[in-house]
Amino acid sequence: MKVTTEGQLVQLIGPDGKDFHIRLQPGRRLQTHRGILYHDALIGVPLGSVVVSHTGSSYTLLDPSLEQLLRGIRRSTQIVYPKEIGYILLKMSIRPGVTVVEAGTGSGALTTGFASAVMPTGHVYSYEIRPDMQSLARHNLERMGLEPYVTLKLKDVAEGFDERDADALFLDLPTPWAYLEQAHATLRGGGFLGAILPTTNQVVQLLYALEHSPFTFVEVQEILIRGYKVIPARFRPADRMVGHTGYMIFARAVNPVVQAMPVDPSDPSDEEE
Ligand code: SAH
Repeated sequence: MKVTTEGQLVQLIGPDGKDFHIRLQPGRRLQTHRGILYHDALIGVPLGSVVVSHTGSSYTLLDPSLEQLLRGIRRSTQIVYPKEIGYILLKMSIRPGVTVVEAGTGSGALTTGFASAVMPTGHVYSYEIRPDMQSLARHNLERMGLEPYVTLKLKDVAEGFDERDADALFLDLPTPWAYLEQAHATLRGGGFLGAILPTTNQVVQLLYALEHSPFTFVEVQEILIRGYKVIPARFRPADRMVGHTGYMIFARAVNPVVQAMPVDPSDPSDEEE
């Protein structure tokens, strides 16, 4: 049976649906408006249990999903939302062992997504110009125990990225077209470029810049997600829906060098079907 351990990040959901995210530490207590929950009594308990506060209120003990942790992130910038992060990870083939470079770090929401996908063998290098943003991102990464997989750099990416042969590079800043040269120098051949922008004007400006760059296979996409009311007798969409967050732009880094095949007519070839 899977039980909670000391130091684990858990979620407690109360009768009113209010939830608390806490890291279990011996001797500590969670004070809610419906009574106290002692960490010691929450350590070694099976996940999914219902625990009762000292005043008799029931709380469900769960491990928060990555999506919930991302929604609860402390932010002072616009962040990349879970609906986009999931797609970005697949689109740019971000998986364990991969090297990802990104700018700017912002609140570290996307950094969190990248770090949890590349760990334990991959690494994320994240650039930011504002020290206050970097500190906030560090706080958010530490809260999730992801800081070992991320190197935070305080640097203007106009000066270039320090890494070479990166598998993927993501630009979440207002003028990504200004940094395509720096991005290409950092990516391996075939590396994945991604960007997210809030306005169509910016997308068009990036598309013009990509036309004159060593990036190809350009795609632009956006993601709409619709929540539903989970009442079986009156099952229907939620009244509200997020109408717009951002446009995602993807491309691949190619090299201008042409690799010509040797001409040898006697060479038996394995023909592809
Ligand atoms: N992806 C982040 C949000 C990034 S907000 C998240 O999900 O939380 C954009 C950030 O880019 C801002 O914090 C800004 O300070 C930073 N930035 C803007 N221009 C930059 C540059 N030239 N070099 C590095 N960082 C930059």
